Formats: sequence, C-alpha cells, structure tokens
Amino acid sequence: MQVEGRVIICDTIDDVGITILKKAGLIVNYKPDIESNELLSAVRECDVIVVRSRTKITKEVIDAAPNVKIIARVGVGLDNIDTDYAESKRIKVLNAAEAAMNAVSELVIGHMIALSRNIPKASDGIKNGKWLKKELVGGELRGKYLGIIGVGNIGRNLGRIAKCLRMNLIGYDIFPINQDYVREVGMIKTDLKTLLENSDFVSCHVPLTEKTRHLINSETLSYMKPTSFLINTSRGEIVDEQSLFVALTEKRIAGAALDVFEVEPPTNTELVNLPNIICSPHIAAQTKEAQELASNVIAEKVIQTLLTNR
Ligand code: NAD
Repeated sequence: MQVEGRVIICDTIDDVGITILKKAGLIVNYKPDIESNELLSAVRECDVIVVRSRTKITKEVIDAAPNVKIIARVGVGLDNIDTDYAESKRIKVLNAAEAAMNAVSELVIGHMIALSRNIPKASDGIKNGKWLKKELVGGELRGKYLGIIGVGNIGRNLGRIAKCLRMNLIGYDIFPINQDYVREVGMIKTDLKTLLENSDFVSCHVPLTEKTRHLINSETLSYMKPTSFLINTSRGEIVDEQSLFVALTEKRIAGAALDVFEVEPPTNTELVNLPNIICSPHIAAQTKEAQELASNVIAEKVIQTLLTNR
C-alpha cells in the first residue's frame, strides 16, 4: 500500500524503519543530529515528525509545523513531547510501547546481580591487582522479594523473568493489576509503603508525571530495609537524587543502580562516585533487538495512521 507525505526523523533510529517508510512511498529526511535551532525550519513542510529522546517536541516546534499529522516516538515514554498541546491540535502521538520491555527487564536483572554479587568491585579489584575473594561475599536473588513499582509492560515482563529466578514478587500500581497476571506469577499486590518495607530489591517502572516526580524521596527511602537495593531504569526525576545520596551515605539502604538521572549526563558526581551505587548511561533500551523492533513498529504505525486518516 502506497502513501504520500514527508517525514523528518530527528534522532538516530535503526535503518529498518527508514527502509519501511521509504518503500511505502514517503519522502524521508533523516537528520539524526539536527540541532534545536535548525528544527523549527526543518519541520515546516513535514507531515510526520519522528524522534527518540534527544529531540524535544515543544509547543513552539508544533506551531512551526502546520502540516504535521503525526508525532512518533521510537521508544516508550512521551515526556519529551508536549502531548497535550499536540492532541489539542488533533495531531496523533504514537510510541512503540512494548518494544523495549525485554531489554529494560534484562538490564534490571543485570543490575540486581551486579549489586548483590559486587561485580563492579570484583572487576575493579582484579584490574588494580587486588584479590577481594574474602571481602566480596554476596547474596542470591533466589527467594528474595522484588518490589515492582508500576506493573505495566516492563514491570510485568520483569516479574515473569524474576519468577524464573525463583524470586518472590510484590507489586504496586495506581491502576488495578491484571488478576490473571497476579495468579500467573504469584504477585502480592500492595500499597507503596508495604512494598518498600518488605522488598529486598525495589525496581521503578512508572512514567514521569506530576504524581511520580520524586516518588522516591527521603520519606519513601526511609521505609526501605537497610539491606535493600533500589534500581531505577524509568526516568531520572522519579528519584530525588539528593535524598538517595543521603540514604546511601548513611547506609539506610545497601545500594542502588541507576540507568537514568535527573540531569543526563549526570552532573551529580558526589552521588555517582559513591561505592554503593552502580550507574549506566540510559542504556536500558539500547539493544540491537529493541532498537530494531521499535523502529519497525513505529514505521508500520505511521503508515497505518496515514492510511486510515487520508
Ligand atoms: P507502562 O505505561 O506500560 O507502565 C507504567 C505503569 O505505571 C502502568 O501500569 C501505570 O498504571 C503505572 N503508574 C502510573 N503512575 C503511577 C503512580 N503514580 N504510581 C504507581 N504506578 C503508576 O510503561 P512501561 O512501558 O512499563 O515503561 C515504564 C517506564 O520505563 C516509563 O517511564 C518509560 O519511560 C521507562 N523506560 C525507560 C527506558 C530506558 O531506556 N531506561 C526504556 C523504556 C522505558
């Protein structure tokens, strides 16, 4: 099925989506490094704007694109797009909701094992000529309680993998958690405080909203056990980094792993240099498989939406 229109792609995406869009007849302007000062003129003639996370689609950008019908994010979170303003102008906002769930879940498992087995310290020790065998007695995941905050696509998938590692699951969500899923994995549904008080690992999988900004703060961190670990792969602003710094320094929790930060790249060097934190540079969805899938899904969704609305 052929379709007409101009697409601008403002961030790096996997080639597969670009090929699909071109094959469908769309004119594709691939500008993965476009700067914000060029953006306003570049979107003027476009029907579709495609982004990942680097490019921000503000009210000003939307106003500069009078023909735009679709704004598509090759990823999950839509916090870099002014969705309310786009929707008020009857512009469709699309994302690739399920493309990253396995990649993110696997990074969480990686961080949990790295934290509980001290993998970064063990590796650094060897590189610095130290054999830390006696010092690095770790813990196992089996039998531990994993608290999942936000039991959506990623939270549910993480739960399934963690279940295979024989972990126990505790879940908290503002919406009812699917009953079949709860039965399948044996999840204990509870409120946030009970989850934090009883989990050995706490993993955050909520979107960034006014309600979730600093959901993890000095009060909520104080509910966690001194032996517990916090993992955040959702959005940096979910965690109040200053409170996390205090909790880690005063050993109120055992450790943390962050893939996302309040400012990226992080400027909070005091926090990231603590010995009981592991960091990764927002790579949770950064696998070949997830990028390919997201690019493919978005290209297909763009074409379908253009076909249905012509
Ligand atoms: P999702 O929409 O499928 O699930 C989010 C869940 O959070 C939903 O079940 C929702 O009901 C729940 N929720 C919303 N507000 C809540 C609140 N105040 N308290 C408790 N629960 C609440 O989203 P997802 O695909 O699972 O993604 C989750 C997060 O992961 C998003 O923030 C997304 O941006 C982030 N993410 C990060 C990366 C990365 O590279 N680090 C990659 C993909 C997704």
